Amino acid sequence: MSIEADIAQRLKDVTGRLDAAAARAARAPGDVTLIAISKTQPDARIAAALAAGQRVFGENRVQEAATHWAARRETVAGLELHLVGPLQTNKVKDAVALFDVIQTVDRPKLAEHLAREFARAGTPRRCFVQVNTGEEPQKAGIVPAEADRFIAECRALELPVEGLMCLPPADEPAPPHFVLLGEIAARNGLSGLSMGMSADFEAAAELGATHVRVGTGVFGPRVPQT
Ligand SMILES: *Cc1c(COP(=O)(O)O)cnc(C)c1O
Repeated sequence: MSIEADIAQRLKDVTGRLDAAAARAARAPGDVTLIAISKTQPDARIAAALAAGQRVFGENRVQEAATHWAARRETVAGLELHLVGPLQTNKVKDAVALFDVIQTVDRPKLAEHLAREFARAGTPRRCFVQVNTGEEPQKAGIVPAEADRFIAECRALELPVEGLMCLPPADEPAPPHFVLLGEIAARNGLSGLSMGMSADFEAAAELGATHVRVGTGVFGPRVPQT
């Protein structure tokens, strides 16, 4: 099968499963946005996803994202790019220039830098607060007990927080983490929920995800980084 046909088929499969999961939860098909996570993928696969009509993509590194997307930003209409990996404060300017949505706001210093850069950039930008629902020490994200206070801090900085994002522990069932994220969002009046990856996006859609982040499900196995 050609790369084009392979990616088009994968996108169709994932979208079909996503719509079916949304329907099981009595949600409309368009309620859940599929973010195709293109990190480490060969350029031909990204081009194939664009050719198949996909317009919403996510990356976890600012530098790599620029090689995939900086030129396409100028040429592809309707593109929407999400940063889903950790953001260092010294990369905030580059990240805001490239991405439409920053999903990994997770500490006061980053929130301050972002608020300043969003204001400077002028054009509307969007962001999510990342919550470390599994309280894993090696993982980014604000811990659940500090989430309410941090969201309030972000709002005081006039950061346009649209929702919450989580990346559950790899060795635990994800649904309890999705439920917890939904509870934190609800009590803070936030409507966005970025949760669910290739292995569990259907469960996430059933539990209220507004955005699912699917990498290998859309593109096939990632190319190991050297
Ligand atoms: C890589 C990545 C994904 C996609 O993972 P898959 O298992 O390939 O679907 C989703 N979210 C984040 C934050 C990632 O880094």
